[in-house]
Amino acid sequence: MTTPESALVIGGGFSGTSAALELAKRGVRVDLVEISAEWGSYGAGISIGGPTLRALRTLGVLDRYLAEGAAFDGTDVLTAEGRPLAALPTPRVAGDDVPGNGAIMRPTLQRILSEAAVAAGVRAHLGSTATDLIDDGDGVTAVLTDGSRDRYDVVVAADGLYSRTRRTLFPDIPGPRYSGQGVWRAVLPLDPAIDHTTLWVGDDLKVGLNPVSDREMYLFVNENIPVHRRVPDDELLPRLGALLERFTDPRVRSARDHLSGTSLISFRPLEGLLVSTPWHAGRVVLIGDAVHATTPHLASGAGIGIEDAIVLAEELSSGGEVEDALAAFERRRWDRCAMVVRNSGRLGEIEITGGDRHEHADLMDASFTALLQPI
Ligand SMILES: Cc1cc2nc3c(=O)[nH]c(=O)nc-3n(C[C@H](O)[C@H](O)[C@H](O)COP(=O)(O)OP(=O)(O)OC[C@H]3O[C@@H](n4cnc5c(N)ncnc54)[C@H](O)[C@@H]3O)c2cc1C
Repeated sequence: MTTPESALVIGGGFSGTSAALELAKRGVRVDLVEISAEWGSYGAGISIGGPTLRALRTLGVLDRYLAEGAAFDGTDVLTAEGRPLAALPTPRVAGDDVPGNGAIMRPTLQRILSEAAVAAGVRAHLGSTATDLIDDGDGVTAVLTDGSRDRYDVVVAADGLYSRTRRTLFPDIPGPRYSGQGVWRAVLPLDPAIDHTTLWVGDDLKVGLNPVSDREMYLFVNENIPVHRRVPDDELLPRLGALLERFTDPRVRSARDHLSGTSLISFRPLEGLLVSTPWHAGRVVLIGDAVHATTPHLASGAGIGIEDAIVLAEELSSGGEVEDALAAFERRRWDRCAMVVRNSGRLGEIEITGGDRHEHADLMDASFTALLQPI
């Protein structure tokens, strides 16, 4: 067996779209099924650290990212009143000419990846999924919801935290676990005083502001909430405003004053999942949140999913048997992905229990240092 000639990708989020793009760039015929009728993402910002910028460079979309998103150096950590606690360096791992940190609106990043995938030849089937995957050892026959059937050398399932493919392949694996925290997010006009990631740490809340373009920034607030629950839409604005009352730094005050019904305010309980390897059965492999969904404490969940796509395409192009390539992919990814999920979980625990701030700072530092390593 040489490089697979055909692949089906299930799920068109950041991981699946990146996998489709990277495989198509290597000459593989790729079909992608995305269950939503729109190939998009919801309106929130997402932090993109240096290692993720490096991955976007490998995918060939960094220029588009830099044109439409935000890139900057450094992260400042402050008290609720604005007293400096730490200035975290963000080394330029994507190249000397590329800042070491960034953020972008999710729909913008999704559009950049999707357009690159289509330009590389990926055929997207929107509003569609695979109902059956029949693996006969030499290939996988997939039946799609539109009634069509096709045969593929490999199937890449990137269908997210509640992956149906994972439940089908590995029915005994427990589902996601609630972390005890939720995150509030909002999008605001850019405050010129916010030109890089700025975090404010209160007693039981953490607030962050990040530019996402030359016009907008996003706000997030991590809150400890013992019970997993949703917040009704009409409570979003008053409750987020009330949480921010405790932060007296003028930049947070200003952000709070700008919040309105058009600020795309959302609240989401945070869940985590780490599936032990193997992540494949036969010729079907799981990537991204389907096997390693992290809470956002290291802002790297999307990054490691995009990296999965690159490493998977590299291994599948190595000329060996597909199943050997999938096992090699898992060996290359396990330590890094497990580190992100576990360390993010521990950071959340320290925040919930009011634990040791030094342990928190050291763990952040060690995790970001580890992520600088090449994939
Ligand atoms: C609150 C929050 C903040 C975060 N902040 C950051 C951050 O700042 N930086 C960062 O790097 N990461 C962050 N993350 C993590 C990041 O959002 C995820 O790791 C990433 O989006 C996962 O991408 P994915 O493609 O693996 O999965 P998903 O984004 O879940 O995509 C799965 C796709 O598959 C589709 N799908 C589902 N089922 C099927 C099916 N049966 N058939 C076909 N398609 C299907 C879905 O519609 C979806 O499009 C954050 C996560 C949360 C919850």
